[in-house]
Amino acid sequence: MTHQNPLGKVYLVGAGPGDPGLFTLKGKTLLEHADVVVYDALVSDAILAMINPEAEKINAGKRRGRHSRLQGETTQLLVEKAQNSAIVVRLKGGDPFVFGRGGEEMGDLVAASVPVEVVPGITAGIAAPAYAGIPLTHRNLSSSVTFVTGHEAVGKYRPQVNWRAIAHGSETIVIYMGVHNLDHIIQELKSAGLSGETSIALVRWGTCPEQQELIGSLDTIIEQMNQENFTAPAVAVIGGVVNLHSLLNHCRPLLVN
Ligand code: SAH
Repeated sequence: MTHQNPLGKVYLVGAGPGDPGLFTLKGKTLLEHADVVVYDALVSDAILAMINPEAEKINAGKRRGRHSRLQGETTQLLVEKAQNSAIVVRLKGGDPFVFGRGGEEMGDLVAASVPVEVVPGITAGIAAPAYAGIPLTHRNLSSSVTFVTGHEAVGKYRPQVNWRAIAHGSETIVIYMGVHNLDHIIQELKSAGLSGETSIALVRWGTCPEQQELIGSLDTIIEQMNQENFTAPAVAVIGGVVNLHSLLNHCRPLLVN
């Protein structure tokens, strides 16, 4: 591809939660025309298959404890590619601005005078509960929902999560990156006053063919997780809306992947 512009551009694109049918048309078009695609570990193969065959594909995958590339190196790479006139797609799981470091990357790119555009994606915290039949709000059960990271206890996030405020602040709580730390989070929520009988769902590999759900209460879920060997990536949903799960239990969409 040739470009008039001496400077390329970086598109921060959300790949959605896994099911390629949930990827945006805008994101797909960009993948088909990109010169360089830098993608994360959680992006599904079906979406990677949409990438322009001529494009340079770079895996910047960062899974817990297995950093294949440091964040600063990834940003540096994006800057260099864009300075070489490339149309660069930075492809991230879910939405780039929801716990995806999209904000940080955008800041670094702007600081390096690289043009940036953002294409949102469907975030896992919305899609995984939806495919599990759990509505996050409901006129009778929940008028508010909070998205929160469970990773903060390892010192990754500032400001730190105020679990006491979260416990009282909304009827539905959706936790990302919380599986490893769930025991601690549940203790915090219970000491803030949530009943041990409060319902919780864990949805693993949401919207992917291997999607799995675990439904229980704050008091039972850790034992259930241990029994099932339930691991990341999963979102946790806490609140009365979880009980609606059984309504849609047998209506899994037919067109998943
Ligand atoms: N930007 C992403 C989130 C990145 S943080 C988004 O908007 O979805 C990574 C966390 O997202 C995982 O630890 C997990 O909690 C959640 N996650 C990502 N994909 C998921 C999926 N398919 N099913 C369930 N949880 C998922």
